[in-house]
Amino acid sequence: MSNDHLEEDLKELRQVFNSGKTKESSWRISQLKGLLHILEDKETDIFMALKQDLGKHHVEAYRDEIGTVVKSVNNVIGNLKKWMSPKKTRLPIAAFPSAASLVPEPLGVVLIISSWNFPIGLSLEPLIGALAAGNAVVLKPSELAPTCSSLLAETIRDYLDNSAVKVVEGGSDVGERLLQYKFDKIFFTGSACVGRIVMSAAAQHLTPVTLELGGKCPAVVDSFSGSRDSNMAAKRIIWGKFGLCAGQACIGIDYILTEKKCLQNLVESLKRCIKQCYGDDPKGSNSISKIVNKKHFSRLKCLLDEPMVKNSVVYGGLLDEESLFIEPTILVDPPLDTAIMTEEIFGPLLPVITLESIEDSINFIKTRPNPLALYVFTENENLQKRFVSETSSGSLMFNDAILQYAVDTLPFGGVGGSGFGRYHGKYSFDEFSHEKVVVMRGFLVDFWFRYPPWTAQKLQL
Ligand code: NAD
Repeated sequence: MSNDHLEEDLKELRQVFNSGKTKESSWRISQLKGLLHILEDKETDIFMALKQDLGKHHVEAYRDEIGTVVKSVNNVIGNLKKWMSPKKTRLPIAAFPSAASLVPEPLGVVLIISSWNFPIGLSLEPLIGALAAGNAVVLKPSELAPTCSSLLAETIRDYLDNSAVKVVEGGSDVGERLLQYKFDKIFFTGSACVGRIVMSAAAQHLTPVTLELGGKCPAVVDSFSGSRDSNMAAKRIIWGKFGLCAGQACIGIDYILTEKKCLQNLVESLKRCIKQCYGDDPKGSNSISKIVNKKHFSRLKCLLDEPMVKNSVVYGGLLDEESLFIEPTILVDPPLDTAIMTEEIFGPLLPVITLESIEDSINFIKTRPNPLALYVFTENENLQKRFVSETSSGSLMFNDAILQYAVDTLPFGGVGGSGFGRYHGKYSFDEFSHEKVVVMRGFLVDFWFRYPPWTAQKLQL
């Protein structure tokens, strides 16, 4: 979709939506199958684009941006008929004779703005929901992953119905231009700062929005009774921090909270696991992604360069601007008022904050913005119960990380500062649909007292 013809292209989308074409289940299925064909035919191109933009290893690329999406499409195709069917619902006896149902209908022409860190997955995952629900779509991928953005533009043009699905490429200027138009839904993945811009633009047209934002996702690590569990916890933490786009992941672990007395063992286990995953010289490893660009590299360097923060590095700390590489780095107790502890890190720096008691972690988390994800590694059932009842986060996972994202039956989304709205599986279909209430009445019975005039006789009833 050329940006010069934006207005005409949006008109075309509106006309096609109004024609009813996108509502047909056959059209929806054909578009979803088109997505499957893209993922199958263009697998190598996707690997290359993700390598080019983010240095992603193809195993990581397949896992996060192809495999999960294929799974999602197949789940939707298998369930679409059921999800599209009207749901009958009961009415009170006083409404007899009548019947009611909830009929899902598409919202119209929807805008999806996505982020660069999983540029294929985070573009296609909401697109699946939008198409399944029968909408016409504009997708704006992130300009910070340019190879992936143009691959999406090209393949979606070639494989999907171009009169109803269009990709608009570009940066914030293009995003701002798009936001001036009326859409029937905006689905945004990105930062809270741009989320505010999206929401205020949407307010001008009373357009509903879904905001998939970020923030700091803590991992609370309790002491473990056995070394096997404690080693497994450490491995999962290293994977949940560095194993997804080098920590550039919205649900990646941002920092750890642990008890002072557990610190030494924990840090030793974390170091051991980093070496197992990335070797003694992680710079030579092809299993860790690069930092997306110089701007983000400098941002992360600034976080580390604060003197009090630099002094807290206990492992790693190597940076190479040329290759945009940052070594998996562990820090112990950087001051809580430094940027590394007040801003989302979004990179391979892992602060470990020590507390007197593990129970203090609850208050630590409660007094900060609601995380998108919260991970608690503990065998203590009381502590688990307290986390469920006393903290608020988009998701809460015990003894592992990240996996909640890939489960079709679980909604994915934030709460408070980490966003609102939710998607994946049926939740995506619902997010891009309106459930219309349809009530059918008959003429068999009627009550004379429901109609004016309000006479004394009616008042006595
Ligand atoms: P970003 O907000 O800078 O950009 C996101 C998208 O918005 C991009 O496509 C960008 O071009 C567009 N954009 C930028 N300025 C705009 C404007 N003024 N008007 C309209 N569109 C504009 O975010 P990012 O750097 O791509 O992503 C990083 C952030 O996203 C982090 O905070 C991360 O936690 C969050 N994130 C959240 C999720 C999630 O699923 N919740 C997933 C990935 C990333």
